[in-house]
Amino acid sequence: MKRRTLLVGPPGSGKGTHAKRISSRFKIPHVATGDMLRAEVAAATTLGLAVRDVMEGGDLVPDELVLEIVTTRLSQPDASRGWLLDGFPRTIPQALALDDRMGSRGIDLVLTLEVPRAEIVGRISGRRSCSSGHVFHVDADPPRREGFCDFDGETLFQRQDDRPEVVLSRLEVYERETEPLLGHYRTSGRLVEVDGSGPPGEVYARVEAVFLDRTDG
Ligand code: AMP
Repeated sequence: MKRRTLLVGPPGSGKGTHAKRISSRFKIPHVATGDMLRAEVAAATTLGLAVRDVMEGGDLVPDELVLEIVTTRLSQPDASRGWLLDGFPRTIPQALALDDRMGSRGIDLVLTLEVPRAEIVGRISGRRSCSSGHVFHVDADPPRREGFCDFDGETLFQRQDDRPEVVLSRLEVYERETEPLLGHYRTSGRLVEVDGSGPPGEVYARVEAVFLDRTDG
C-alpha cells in the first residue's frame, strides 16, 4: 500500500494543520518544505543563511535548492510507503521534476484547499507559532496562556512572512507561480478540489474522506 500525495493551496489555507492529521491517520510522513527551510534558517546552516531573506520577504526559494532537500527527504526509509507533500511543488519546474522522479506510477492524489481571500488574510494575520512549529490563532485557536505554546511553553511569535505587508505579496506569488499547477494536475485527472473554508474540524472531515476514497488502502 502506497500513498504519494500532495496538498496544494494558498498560504493560510490550512495545509499544515490538515497535513499533520492526515500524516498521523494514514502513517505517512508529512514533508513540509516551509518547515524544513525554517529549520535550516533557525540552525543558521549555509542553506538557511542563503534563503532567510528571500523567505522573510515572502518570495520563493530557488527551485534547485528546494528540489535538493525534497529529494533527500523522499529517499529516507520512512518515505518508502508514501508521503504527503505540503508546500511542494510550488512552481511548474518543481512539478515537472517531481513527475520525472516518480516515473510511470506518478502521484496518486493532489488535493487543493479553496479558501476565499478575506478568510485567508484573517487566518494568517492572527497566526502565532513557536520555534518548534506549533501553531495557534489569537482568536480561533488561542493558547491557554497568552503568548506561550501549550505544548512546550516556548514563546509564541508572528512569522516574519505572516506580517500583513508580506501576506498580500505571498498571495500574489501563489496566484502567479503555484496556481498554474492546478491545471497541470487537473488535466491528468489527479486533482481533487476541497472547500477549505469554515471550522477546521469540518474541513478535515472533507479532506480525510477524499484520502479514503482516492488512495489505496
Ligand atoms: P510555507 O511554510 O509553505 O508557507 O513556506 C514558507 C516559505 O518557504 C515560502 O514563502 C518560500 O519562501 C519557502 N518555500 C517553501 N516551500 C517552497 C517551495 N516548494 N519552493 C520555493 N520556496 C518554498
